[in-house]
Amino acid sequence: MPKVRIYELAKKYKISSNALITILKELKFEPKSHMSVATDDMITAVTKKFAEGKKEAKKEMEHKEQIKAAVERKTSVGKVSTTPGSEVETIIKKIDKKLKKKERRKKKILNVVDKQAVAKTFKSTMANLGSGKSKKKYKKSSGEDEGVDLGNPNLIEVNEFMSVAELAKVIDVKPTEIITKLFELGVMATINQRLDMASIETIADEYGKEVTLIAEIGEDVLQDENVDHLIKRAPVVTVMGHVDHGKTSLLDFVRSANVVEGEAGAITQHIGAYDVECQGEKITFLDTPGHEAFTAMRARGAQITDIVVLVVAADDGVRPQTIEAIDHAKAAEVPIVVAINKIDKPNANPDSIRNELSNHNLLSEEWGGKTIMVEISAKHGDNVDKLLEMILLQAEMLDLMADPQIRAQGVVIDARLEKGRGPVVTVLVQKGTCKVGDSVVAGVQKGRIRTITDDKSKTMPNIGPSMPAQITGLGGVPQAGDSFMACVNDQEAKEISGKRAIIKRGQDARNNLGGITLDQIFERIKDGQIKDLRLIIKGDVDGSVEVLSDTLGKIQTDEVKTSIIRQSVGAISESDVILASASGAFIIGFHVSIDSRARELAKQEKVDIRLYDIIYEAEDDVKKALEGMLSPEISERFVGEAEVRDTFKVPKIGSIAGSYVKTGRFKRSDKVKLSRGGKIIYTGTLNSLRRFKDDVKEVKEGFECGIGLENYNDIKVGDLIEAYEIVETARKLEV
Ligand code: GDP
Ligand code: MG
Repeated sequence: MPKVRIYELAKKYKISSNALITILKELKFEPKSHMSVATDDMITAVTKKFAEGKKEAKKEMEHKEQIKAAVERKTSVGKVSTTPGSEVETIIKKIDKKLKKKERRKKKILNVVDKQAVAKTFKSTMANLGSGKSKKKYKKSSGEDEGVDLGNPNLIEVNEFMSVAELAKVIDVKPTEIITKLFELGVMATINQRLDMASIETIADEYGKEVTLIAEIGEDVLQDENVDHLIKRAPVVTVMGHVDHGKTSLLDFVRSANVVEGEAGAITQHIGAYDVECQGEKITFLDTPGHEAFTAMRARGAQITDIVVLVVAADDGVRPQTIEAIDHAKAAEVPIVVAINKIDKPNANPDSIRNELSNHNLLSEEWGGKTIMVEISAKHGDNVDKLLEMILLQAEMLDLMADPQIRAQGVVIDARLEKGRGPVVTVLVQKGTCKVGDSVVAGVQKGRIRTITDDKSKTMPNIGPSMPAQITGLGGVPQAGDSFMACVNDQEAKEISGKRAIIKRGQDARNNLGGITLDQIFERIKDGQIKDLRLIIKGDVDGSVEVLSDTLGKIQTDEVKTSIIRQSVGAISESDVILASASGAFIIGFHVSIDSRARELAKQEKVDIRLYDIIYEAEDDVKKALEGMLSPEISERFVGEAEVRDTFKVPKIGSIAGSYVKTGRFKRSDKVKLSRGGKIIYTGTLNSLRRFKDDVKEVKEGFECGIGLENYNDIKVGDLIEAYEIVETARKLEV
């Protein structure tokens, strides 16, 4: 008989090696590691233990059956008597809650008169495109299908924005029936009307069907993997956790400590992903910056992720973003390995973290649960190697395989336009292989791979499963989260990207994807497309936010009224922009700054951000927008941002801010704002701009300079100075 190792035995029983080792120790064996050979005695003892476990499990199953029967009665009869306080009662309550939720959803659809909800679902669909949970569908060489989704007659395949007629066809009823159903739900539809996902789901639900989204264009030509060619691939890991718990520190430490020999000293770039080697095996890390900021990307990220490393600071605890990360991972059915970080801190309390996590269904292996937890210090590197080992162990259990012999399929991790190189796109190949010269499609973009480089700018001949790399050669910049695929030839790439572009244009036009601008709103009100003007209000202090939301919240005309979907104190952040974009809202800022990533995203998503110093002006603009009377837009165009790194006094001039221009440029003639901790505390002009001792007209990005502000001396290190120009754009209104 071949030797069986601990981890193989663990896999057989579907537990982690660590858990098995714990069990073996309880049984008085002393296995050394997951690689140790399991002796016959061990196997016999473990088998016996699990047989006993099965009896227990059977009992539990019977109990569950009882509950299930009660539940079935509940759903068919509607009412069922339960013993107060019993488990059955709790479950019945849960079902009631669920049913109510469904009712609410139906009600919501009643209100969907505007197209914004469609835009939202469209966004999430785009987010799922290509990176959707991969149904493992290996085609055997014999041609036999091993799909997992076989045999659920109630599962229908739907397409976002499919028409009433198309939906009727897949449900197998007459279109008129669907139209009637929609009518009952308050939606007047024609046979060719396209439906958003919420409506599709609700209708399907009415017929007892579950829906799955079908493929995007191009998916039909994707090659199936051949089981005989499957090889082990590296796990793809995403690091998540609350802000400041140490995600960046961990990613940086892992990368710097695991530079492969010969690469030491190489300049590394943050390209959004990298891989490292540990004990001769590879691990791929997704290294997307920011956390709260990247809500959207992370939702996508979780789909390409095999393992989530959840970082929790041992001197802090489970915080909102920790819980959010757990929810994301659970929703994507991705296992979590917990890194209890900052263990070097004197007030670190890892057991309290274990305890808190246990309230979120993450029970540490040491406490008899299934979740691997490692105590680390990302700052000093303590135990980070152990964490990597545990990641590999977890990966071992997942049995990650891919066929490298087919044409590459993957996901865009990051993409930008670079001077001289054109679109530079970080892709993660999930299956197959691609090489320089291959015709490829990423989202709606197509091209031929010109170069492939890794995060150390080293040229790579090709990329295979779980390998991240930067490629150039695409004709345009795709979006992070877009699917990536190699094609048979240019012709195929062109066809796929062309079709996708047409569909996307249509959808964009229908839904006006992303934000809307204040001056577009009147047309849409006229068209009856918008019934409420959604606003996000950000202000410097509670008082002003209150006043603004009171004032703006009251504005209404016959056709439309305002609704405030978020109001809070602080700088305008990326999450505000994401919310605005997803719900078609405007952002009104009062005495606040816009953080730089939020600004970038707003531009990309076409979210209108309006900044005001006077409440009356905000009110006036909103009123005018609703009445279609918005005067020429006087807006501030951001031109640069500098960070104050030092301050000094210069006789006759006053305080000078020794600053570093982080983005854009500074001109002597610019208007400027000074912000501290997200609040604007000065607005005015420059009275001096110097490089070394010389007065200069302009300072470019990446340079240091001395900035003096007109009539203002209270500059502090860490302040941000923003330069802007005033531009006037005539309102575009085609009445
Ligand atoms: P992120 O927001 O989750 O990316 O967290 P960062 O990696 O930026 O870390 C936030 C702060 O915690 C920084 O000041 C780090 O130096 C610090 N930090 C991170 N890991 C550790 C650690 O293991 N020990 C200690 N003492 N500090 C840490
Ligand atoms: Mg960070």
